[in-house]
Amino acid sequence: MLQQRTLKSLTRAVGVGLHSGQRVEMTLRPAPADTGIVFRRVDLPQVADIPVKPESVCDCRMATTISPGGDPGAAKVNTIEHLMSACAGLGLDNLYIDITAEEVPILDGSSAAFVYLLQSAGIELQKAPKRFLRVNKPVEVRDGEGRSLKWARLEPYNSFKLAFEIDFDHPAVDQTGQRVEFDFASGQYKRDIARARTFGFTKDVEHMRARGLGLGASMDNAIVVDDHRVLNSDGLRYDDEFVKHKILDAIGDLYVAGHMLLASYTAYKSGHAMNNQLLRALLAQRDAWDIVTFEDTRNAPRGLSELAPAW
Ligand SMILES: [Zn+2]
Repeated sequence: MLQQRTLKSLTRAVGVGLHSGQRVEMTLRPAPADTGIVFRRVDLPQVADIPVKPESVCDCRMATTISPGGDPGAAKVNTIEHLMSACAGLGLDNLYIDITAEEVPILDGSSAAFVYLLQSAGIELQKAPKRFLRVNKPVEVRDGEGRSLKWARLEPYNSFKLAFEIDFDHPAVDQTGQRVEFDFASGQYKRDIARARTFGFTKDVEHMRARGLGLGASMDNAIVVDDHRVLNSDGLRYDDEFVKHKILDAIGDLYVAGHMLLASYTAYKSGHAMNNQLLRALLAQRDAWDIVTFEDTRNAPRGLSELAPAW
C-alpha cells in the first residue's frame, strides 16, 4: 500500500514574513493519519486551528492566505504557498504547523529551506493509504483578452506534471527562459524547482508598501529587479528562475487541495488567485475528479511512490 506520510520528529523555523515584515516562529509537528495539514495560531488567546483546504483560502492578492472556512474576519495565515510546495515535494500528508504570527516566514524566498527542515526532521510512513486527487476530464479557467489574457488548465495524466509560461514584457525577465515544464516522475523537485526564489520589481515597491505588502522583502529573500536588470549581486540560481518559481508556487497552490493531483497542469500568466479558482472549478464538477489510493505501490505513478519523491 502507498502510505500517508508525516514527520518523524518536530522541527522549528524562525524568520520574518515577506509582506508583514513581522518576526515569526514556526514549529512543524507530526500529525495522525487523515489529519491533513493544519496551521495553528498559537499566539492568539484562544489557539485557532486553520486546516489547509480549498475553501479555507480567503485572499490571493500577493500570496495565498487561509482562515477557518475562508472567513476574512477570522484568524489568518498568509503566504503558505512555498511551505505547501515543499510539503508536496516531499509527499507529506499530515502535519501540525504551530505559528506565532499571521505570516509564514519567507526564509530565503524559495522552498529549499523548508525542504531541508522537513527532511532533517525525517519522514514517517503511516498506517493509512495515501490519497490522490485524480483529474478525469479537462477543466480550464481564463481571464482577460489580448495582452491581459491569462489561463490555467488541468487535464487527465497518470502522474503530476506542470507547464508554465510567463510574459512580463521586461528586459531582464524576457532574457531568461519563459516556459518551463516539470514532471514529478523525474523525482527532481528539490534539484530543479525548490531553489527558485520569489521575485519583485523595484517599480512596484512603493505601491506595495503603501498597501502594507512586501515590508519584509530584501535581496536576502527575493530576486529584486529594477527597470533593466537583476540587482542581486550573485545573480540567478537557475537561468529560468522566474518561471520556475511560478511552477513552485503552482505546486503549493494546488496542494491546498489536501492531496497531490494526478493531472497535467498548464498555465499562461496564472497566479495564486487563478490557481485557486482552477482548483475550485475542478472540485465543483463532481464527475471531473475522484480520490484514488494504491494498494500495490508498483501501480503508483513513477516519482510518487518513493518515500521522498523530491529526490
Ligand atoms: Zn512564490
